[in-house]
Amino acid sequence: MIPGAFAYHRPGSVSEAVALLADLGEDARPLSGGHSLIPLMKLRLAAPTHLVDLGGIGDLKGIAEDGSDIVIGAMVTQQELIASDLLAGKLPILRETSLLIADPQVRSLGTIGGNAANGDPANDMPALMMALNATYELTGKSGKRSEPARGYYRGAYDTALNAGEILTAIRIPVPAAGHGYAYEKLKRKVGDYATAAAAVVLTLEGGKVASCAIGLTNVADTPLFAEEACSILTGSALDDDTVKRAVAAAEAITAPASDRRGTPQYRTKMAGVMLSRALARAKSRAA
Ligand SMILES: Cc1cc2nc3c(=O)[nH]c(=O)nc-3n(C[C@H](O)[C@H](O)[C@H](O)COP(=O)(O)OP(=O)(O)OC[C@H]3O[C@@H](n4cnc5c(N)ncnc54)[C@H](O)[C@@H]3O)c2cc1C
Repeated sequence: MIPGAFAYHRPGSVSEAVALLADLGEDARPLSGGHSLIPLMKLRLAAPTHLVDLGGIGDLKGIAEDGSDIVIGAMVTQQELIASDLLAGKLPILRETSLLIADPQVRSLGTIGGNAANGDPANDMPALMMALNATYELTGKSGKRSEPARGYYRGAYDTALNAGEILTAIRIPVPAAGHGYAYEKLKRKVGDYATAAAAVVLTLEGGKVASCAIGLTNVADTPLFAEEACSILTGSALDDDTVKRAVAAAEAITAPASDRRGTPQYRTKMAGVMLSRALARAKSRAA
């Protein structure tokens, strides 16, 4: 339970951080809240010899409106997401999802950037970011670029982040006023990762689905964007038969591992149950 030796660095700016990561090379890792990385280091499943702590970089904090988007700094903690009035008004699903992550102790340190950047399929933010059509702002020594959340995840812990880059902010288009939303998560106990979870963001026009986005958590090597399920639902009144077809389409793209949370078959079915519940709750909330 004791990590290997490492050197600790605390840069004061993004440019200093990415210069350090570039100079130190593969043995260096960014450190945010430390609530995924430090447990791995204690188990010796990760052994970076340099940690570059992003906690001293003011530019990575803050939640702000920018035109029709909301931009959230990578070092914003899950607790800060929960406490934000701006998010409660414009992106309430972020608060709902954050409240289902771990426990208050973890949420007070764990960051949105660490959660989204990491590529852990069990994390809750990635599927939500896909459902919200978020864009990740990435910076490396050679400059800045953007990557859509829907294209960022390539495999378990395998992402579009290049060596030496950090996620600096997440840009989320604000869904239309009156949108419906829900994040439904099955977990064995408080503080557990999802057996399966589903994020739904939709809008209704005249009682019919005008737009719909669905993300699924921890039922494959990556978070999943359930595109076919969304197409099936669009234009429907979310009647039982259409929902059943959409749920079947979502279940069909899952490939969960067998672990202490259940067999692949069970976890696939639970993804479907979470999606049905999320659709019903999103519908009830949509204006
Ligand atoms: C008991 C427990 C229960 C938990 N339960 C849940 C849960 O139910 N759901 C859930 O989603 N999470 C859960 N977590 C994880 C928690 O939310 C983490 O805090 C979060 O996933 C990672 O954020 P962090 O800021 O702690 O990142 P860190 O642990 O500091 O970093 C995680 C990884 O991402 C990299 N990284 C960090 N920040 C950046 C960045 N800005 N740019 C690029 N790379 C970066 C690091 O190098 C590292 O590889 C749990 C953690 C614990 C300890």
